[in-house]
Parts: sequence; C-alpha cells; structure tokens
Amino acid sequence: MKAETISIDTLVVGAGQAGVAISEHLGKLGVPHLVLERDRIAERWRTGRWDSLVANGPAWHDRFPGMEFEGLDADAFAGKEQVADYFVAYARKFNAPIRTGVEVKSVARQTGRPGFVVETSNGTFDANRVVVATGPFQRPVIPPIAPDDAAITQLHSADYRNPDQLPAGAVLVVGAGSSGTQIADELNRAGRTVYLSVGAHDRPPRAYRNRDFCWWLGVLGEWDKEVAGPGREHVTIAVSGAYGGQTIDFRRLAHEGITLVGLTRAFDQGVVTFEQDLVDNLKRGDHNLFALLDAADAYVERNGLDLPDDPTARFIPADPECVTRPLHELDLKEANVSTIIWATGYAVDYSWLHVDAFDEKGKPRHQRGVSTEPGIYFLGLPWLSRRGSSFIWGVWHDAKHVADHIVTQRKYLDYRDASQRADDAPRAQAKDTHLARNTTQADHDNEVGVN
Ligand SMILES: Cc1cc2nc3c(=O)[nH]c(=O)nc-3n(C[C@H](O)[C@H](O)[C@H](O)COP(=O)(O)OP(=O)(O)OC[C@H]3O[C@@H](n4cnc5c(N)ncnc54)[C@H](O)[C@@H]3O)c2cc1C
Repeated sequence: MKAETISIDTLVVGAGQAGVAISEHLGKLGVPHLVLERDRIAERWRTGRWDSLVANGPAWHDRFPGMEFEGLDADAFAGKEQVADYFVAYARKFNAPIRTGVEVKSVARQTGRPGFVVETSNGTFDANRVVVATGPFQRPVIPPIAPDDAAITQLHSADYRNPDQLPAGAVLVVGAGSSGTQIADELNRAGRTVYLSVGAHDRPPRAYRNRDFCWWLGVLGEWDKEVAGPGREHVTIAVSGAYGGQTIDFRRLAHEGITLVGLTRAFDQGVVTFEQDLVDNLKRGDHNLFALLDAADAYVERNGLDLPDDPTARFIPADPECVTRPLHELDLKEANVSTIIWATGYAVDYSWLHVDAFDEKGKPRHQRGVSTEPGIYFLGLPWLSRRGSSFIWGVWHDAKHVADHIVTQRKYLDYRDASQRADDAPRAQAKDTHLARNTTQADHDNEVGVN
C-alpha cells in the first residue's frame, strides 16, 4: 500500500528558538503550518552545551518579547536548562504545532508544479513552503591542523561537559571566543593547568555605568548593524554570564593561572607552534573594549543621562609573563597536555536540502531570510538581517519578517481573476449549504492542511 502524503502550507524544519519564533508568527497570521523537530524542542540548549553554561545576555534581554523568564531575576543569566524550558513553555503558550522526534531527510522541488516534496523519518509531506530553522551551529568544526595523535584526547567545545570528563593532565583550549574562554576559565578554577590560544576577538564590558553590554549594543544601534565591518567577519566575541557576569579580561585570567598563547599555527611531532600575535590580539581586544566605553560615554553625555561614572571599567591589569615573553611552541608531552579542546566554531549542514538556494561556496542565497529559491526560507543564521539575527531576541524579529513574506505570497497565489471568481460562486454556495448542515463541526487545528 502506498504511504499517505501529508499536505501542508508551510513546513518548518527545526524547533529551536528560530522554529518556535516562526511558528508563533505564522499562527498569529493564520498560516497552516507544522514544525518538525528531530529531537526535542530547544534540544541544543539541553544536550549541545556544557553543563555550567548560562546565557550570555541577562534574562530581561535574552528572551522573546511575549514572555519573561519565570522565577528569574531580570538581571540574572538563565542556565541552559532554564533557556530550554523557556522555549518549551513558550511553544506551549500558543499551542505550537510541533512534532518532535521527526527528522527531515530531504527536501526537493516538485516537478511541474510549485511546492516541495519533503521526506522525513515519519512519512512524506507535500509543502508549499519550507522554512529552514535548523540553526547556525549544526556541525562542530575542527581545523585540519588537529594532530593525529592517539595519546591526546581531542574534543570540540560542543562535546565538552565539565572538567571531570577529561583525563588528568593539562589542557590546551584552542579558540578564545565565548565558549573557549568560559571553558578555559572553568578548567583553571577546577585546578587544571590550562593553555588558552587567543586569536582576534571583541571583548565588550559585561556592564558599564550600571547597564549591561546588551543594553549598550541596543541603544548604540550595534545589534541592528546589517553587515560586519571589513575584515571583521571572523572576529569572535568573548563575553560571558558565568559567575554572575564578569567582563572577559584575558590578562586577569592569566594572573589567575591560565597561560595565554597566540593563534595555534601547527602541530609537528608532538610540538605545537603558535603565531606571535598574542600581544596584537590582546591590544585589539582592548581597543574594542575602549571603543564601546567611549561610545557609551558619548551617548550618556549627548542624552544627559544620569548614569554613574565607572572608571574601573578602563582598568587593564599589568601584562603577565605569558604576554611579555609569549610561548612560541609547546612540547605537549613535556607540558603534560592530555587534552585539546577545539573551541573553533561550527558550520551548517544542508546536505538534505536539494534546492537551488546556495552560492558557489554553499552559503544560502537570501535576502533577510527569503531565499532566491521561491518558497524556501532561512532563519537563525548569523547576520541574516543584522548582527542580532542568530541570537534569541534577534531571531524573533527576523521570523516576523519571514512570516509576513509568506502571508504576502499566499495572498498573490489566492488571487482569482473575474472569470475564476464567477466560476467560484456556485461552488461557494454549495459549500455554505453543506456547512450549515454541519454547524457543530469545528476545526480549529493549526494543522488544517494535514490530511
Ligand atoms: C555555546 C553557545 C552559547 C550560546 N549562548 C547564547 C546566548 O546566551 N544568548 C543568545 O541569544 N544566543 C546564544 N547562542 C546562539 C544561539 O542562540 C543558539 O545557537 C541557538 O541554539 C540557535 O537557535 P536556532 O533555533 O537557530 O538553532 P538550534 O537551537 O540549533 O535549533 C535547530 C533545531 O533544528 C533541529 N534540526 C536540525 N536538522 C534537522 C532536520 N533535518 N530535521 C528535523 N530537525 C532538525 C535540531 O535538532 C535543533 O533542535 C549560543 C550558541 C552557542 C553555540
């Protein structure tokens, strides 16, 4: 017997924050839709992060507009489970049509008619539109320089959970964005010997003049920037809500015991070499910090705000020895390094999406999430429309734009010319009569397209 194909107007792939956000907007706009999630709602927050992770932004900021974190101080930083619970509660709030445990295996254009055939682990769907909300951070990336050395445990930050998980010995953490820095700090506090490889980074103040940096980036228009400045696409941001929220200060971390090194260049016969760029990278990070403090001061001045001075924010500790005499190389065995943690970022994986929506480098071609392939939409990607796009609060606004676009397209397709409308009239009359006979039959299900 041929398996049944389910028809739906809009199919959303992924129920992380992006999938939940678009579902809310589509529901409000009356678009029949279904969200398919291979695991659980907000799974990445539960099982794709280390145990102690808290949100990078305070609870008043890192949330959707429609709901606050229950039982959490507005200035506190939600733990990863609280973030996941938040999205589950949010989805429940508007009864989001989400099916969990269903993996989308392939999406391909229909032939000779609009729409897409979607193969899943639980049947086939026929969808007019597909929203790809599978996340910006799908496939952990370990660079090809990683040594082929069985004596060393190597893992990506996505697989790090806590210090006890690692074999005894020193740890080299490669990458000093938010993940690498927090993991290195946690390991150092747990008594491990830690080397932290620091590349180009931004390091905003955690707070300044009684305002969190999320607030400053908001009022200064930084979250809304549409493109990263030239040469800044790969500059990572070092910020953390851990331990109540502190500014990431690499020299302080070094004074607390971490050995800072420059960018990791290569591994050869048990010896790792580092670029001699540590001092420059730290200076550029300081410059970024001061630039934000200056912009904040100018904003306070211009608007006559009563926010207290905060001179301690400009304090830079003395250079520790690892900065004045940076390591060029490290013999891993001599240094007792047993583990390398690659905090080197993620890539996307669209191997299941067989549509003409990618450029020659495999990057989605789109405008604010609206793909060049009609009917395909992307959400949650970094810089989708602006700097805030991959973050919790930012994706909600992008989702609104995408949902509006879907509604507009539906209106075009619903248009009937005069002769079609004349043909429609007798049919509509017959339908009214039928409905009148079945007044008790109600179908308020959001999955009205499902059959
Ligand atoms: C360590 C870390 C910390 C972060 N901290 C913050 C923070 O504090 N504040 C903030 O605003 N942002 C933070 N982010 C950024 C961002 O908010 C998260 O990455 C967030 O998880 C992205 O949400 P998303 O819905 O776009 O993608 P995801 O959360 O990755 O959700 C995508 C979903 O799609 C599902 N999926 C994928 N493929 C398929 C398929 N083929 N079929 C069905 N389902 C599929 C996945 O199972 C997943 O549940 C952080 C990111 C990282 C890596």
